Amino acid sequence: MQSKKLENTLNAEKVEQSQILIVDDQLSLLLSLQALLRINGYQVELARTGSEAITKLQDNKYELLLLDLQMPGIDGLEVLEFVREAKLDLETIVVSGDTSFPSIKESMRLGAYDFIRKPYNPEELLETVRRGVEHYHRERESLTASQSLSESEQFHRYIVNSSPDFIYMLDTEGVFTYVNDMVEDLLGYKRNELLGKHFSSIIHPHNAAECHHFFREQRAGDRATRSAEMRLLVNQSSDLVKSFDNYELIIELNATGVYENDDTGKRVFIGTLGSARDISARKRSEEHISFQAYHDLLTQLPNRILFDDRLNQALAHARRNRQKFAILFMDLDRFKLINDTLGHAMGDLVLQRVSERILDYLRAEDTLARFGGDEFCLLLPDIPHKESVASVAEKILKAVRQPFSINNHELYLSMCVGIAIYPAAGETGETLLRSADMAMYHVKENGKDGYCFYSDSMKSDSHFLTPEHDLSSAIEKRQFQVFFQPKVDPGNHEIVGMEALLRWQHPERGLLYPEDFLAAAESSKLMVTLGIWVLRTVCEEMVRWQQQGIPPVKVSLNVSLIQLKEDDFAEHFIQILQEFNLSSALFAIEITERGLNNGETEVVKQLRILRDFGVSVTIDDFGRGHSSLSYLQNLPVNTLKIDRSFVREIEENPDRTCIADGIAMMAKGLKLNVVGSGVENLFQLDYLRNLGCHEVQGYLYSAAISAQEAMALLQNCPAEGPHFTLPH
Ligand code: C2E
Ligand code: CA
Repeated sequence: MQSKKLENTLNAEKVEQSQILIVDDQLSLLLSLQALLRINGYQVELARTGSEAITKLQDNKYELLLLDLQMPGIDGLEVLEFVREAKLDLETIVVSGDTSFPSIKESMRLGAYDFIRKPYNPEELLETVRRGVEHYHRERESLTASQSLSESEQFHRYIVNSSPDFIYMLDTEGVFTYVNDMVEDLLGYKRNELLGKHFSSIIHPHNAAECHHFFREQRAGDRATRSAEMRLLVNQSSDLVKSFDNYELIIELNATGVYENDDTGKRVFIGTLGSARDISARKRSEEHISFQAYHDLLTQLPNRILFDDRLNQALAHARRNRQKFAILFMDLDRFKLINDTLGHAMGDLVLQRVSERILDYLRAEDTLARFGGDEFCLLLPDIPHKESVASVAEKILKAVRQPFSINNHELYLSMCVGIAIYPAAGETGETLLRSADMAMYHVKENGKDGYCFYSDSMKSDSHFLTPEHDLSSAIEKRQFQVFFQPKVDPGNHEIVGMEALLRWQHPERGLLYPEDFLAAAESSKLMVTLGIWVLRTVCEEMVRWQQQGIPPVKVSLNVSLIQLKEDDFAEHFIQILQEFNLSSALFAIEITERGLNNGETEVVKQLRILRDFGVSVTIDDFGRGHSSLSYLQNLPVNTLKIDRSFVREIEENPDRTCIADGIAMMAKGLKLNVVGSGVENLFQLDYLRNLGCHEVQGYLYSAAISAQEAMALLQNCPAEGPHFTLPH
């Protein structure tokens, strides 16, 4: 067939020399995409804004456009609109973090060829780009081939028969009088089999009435062509029906009434002419995209957005019918331990298996959602009484306690379940969730592994009333500790610094990590007090190192945006260093890129004071925010740290490049140091070293260790400086 022939003539060289324009306001992404595509042989140009893109597009020299949707000023949809209006000859792939269904649908409506969500998977991206470019060339070759045919009947027949659409004509009764060759490929009928048959014979029964109405409307007057979505039945006895999947075909049906003037000059309806386009693939991808927007991809469970929607429905229903419903907030015990000791891949498997087990005990109308991490939330609508909820909770707990056997590991798990019942535990979604969360914490506090109903008495429980109270008394009770993670020169494995990481030795809950308490501290001024405490403790420790004769080691402290918003933060910081008589060159602070986005001038001022005083400034999770290059250039920053999520993507596949490359390139351009974090294997280490990382840190060398262990490590081999020995 024609299209097959064309496919064979497409050569790889042509595809790879294609010109691609990437449009994104996020520079880090732009650079990493550029690196990825250039390595794969594409010619790439960049645009940082919608208007720059439009200017470049006017040259009309690109085959493919990779387009971000959300940009300040002229956004992606407006660029798409421009491409359509100007009838530009290219294909567009939308690469966007905006996965809301309406914007994706809109971009497809405006003619986008495909869609990739951010953060993208490089392999998937390359594959999509390859398809896009190939599609572009195939379309153009087909066009050239058709242009070379004469304007003859042969030409028209060619158009009709080579059209990817099913083209048909019906008589006044709705009987097929013409169908093109495509009918065989799409529906599995020979042309002759369909001629003379009524259209209803190929319409899915569910669309029968709608389709009759659609065709009737075409003859009712001067209506212009319009289209409707329908399902057609594939010929049951044809080869096409190999599975249930292609038993039916989703099409976009177009029709227009055909009229003729009779002898008296009266306009008479003589039939219907139209086409039908196979949109099954598009429908499937739309369904897939909308699934992604409302589900957690790891467990396939509803996500928070869908859960909130179901919760609102349950509330409306329960209010109307004076019924009760329950929310169960569930959190696995000691899940972080699994992630830390057995790795994230294992953690992911555990979450999948746990969700499968819970689902076994639920009814179709119940909603189990994953809220992120190891938190699940269950909605049980329309419950007869409290006991029925208790019995569900017991069954779930029992199921989770059964040992899990995953990748040769036998794992014993448990979890805490907090239950809130409408309306006793709250009358809005928000209060119900908070109540269920409180009840869940109550179980955690009381030895974990169990369930508990929310009761009003929990509100007066000091832990819940003021989480800050718990935290502030923890400072007094000396329950906080600073741990240290070595930062290493990847060339000679020498320890060149330490990162201070906070831990809370909780009397009941055991060793807590920042993720368990930092958000609570940040929601109050306590973060400021805690930050000062960390700095003082680090200083005390550094003085101790000096006293032990350990050569000076630079320490990085994580600083939250809440701290930086204090106008005397820098001043206070400097005062403490002076109090301990420690050189500012021995200190670095790490801040998150996300916090900086808003361009808070006050925050920048604090950073500048510190840097002018000699304290280094590192952007911690670089690549995850949206800093623009011009903004970064003006920031008082010395170092970019590659977030561990990007380091995790570095795999032993020579064809793959990743965001880490883009960040390293960008740092080079800005003359900044680069630190790689979360290095867990030798391959990642080599990769980062080759990228020019000045320092790395990660479990490969050491996790964060207690102050005591850190001191012992630093005292090791004082002659040549403390270093690690790695098997190579
Ligand atoms: P971060 O600055 O990105 O810190 C690195 C986190 O990654 C630490 O978790 C560390 O234990 C962990 N980590 C280190 N190497 C590896 C590795 O090879 N693999 C993996 N998977 N993880 C690794 P931690 O200690 O739980 O800290 C979490 C976050 O809490 C930190 O993220 C930091 O933003 C914040 N934080 C910690 N201490 C403080 C503090 O004193 N003040 C403030 N404001 N924030 C802090
Ligand atoms: Ca950090």
